Amino acid sequence: MWNYLKEIFSGGYSLLVGMWITLRHTFRRPVTVQYPYESLKMPARYRGHIQLVFDAATGQPKCVACMACARACPSNCISLEGHKPEGATRRVVSKYTLDFTSCSLCGLCVESCSFDALEFSKDYNLAATKKDEYVMDLMKQAQGKQEK
Ligand code: SF4
Ligand code: SF4
Repeated sequence: MWNYLKEIFSGGYSLLVGMWITLRHTFRRPVTVQYPYESLKMPARYRGHIQLVFDAATGQPKCVACMACARACPSNCISLEGHKPEGATRRVVSKYTLDFTSCSLCGLCVESCSFDALEFSKDYNLAATKKDEYVMDLMKQAQGKQEK
């Protein structure tokens, strides 16, 4: 008889504890998001693929096509072209391609840039069905982001 009552008491107690935990979590801020309709905000140190930084004043890439990043890349995944417009004091980048299939996110390109013209993006949802889609035209991509 005593054991029987003990079991009823313990069952009722665990039920109340479970309900209390459920109630507490009901009013907490959710930690999940409705992916793919919502995206998480990545922390400052997150490394997505590299991207060009644009000058807020001119709307142009800060890159002067000095090639330092391409030379620093141990995986040879950066290729770029630039030219010096007539009358300009420095070169401008005209094409910047990243082969993200070989990138190890080592950061040597970002560190080697003396013009703060490269940074890591916060993009993390880069699903694709073809390898070619990871060969990125960073000029186009940056322009697309600016237009959004
Ligand atoms: S190191 Fe910087 S400025 Fe030089 S090509 Fe690379 S991104 Fe452009
Ligand atoms: S992060 Fe490293 S591997 Fe990737 S492009 Fe830059 S230098 Fe190359």
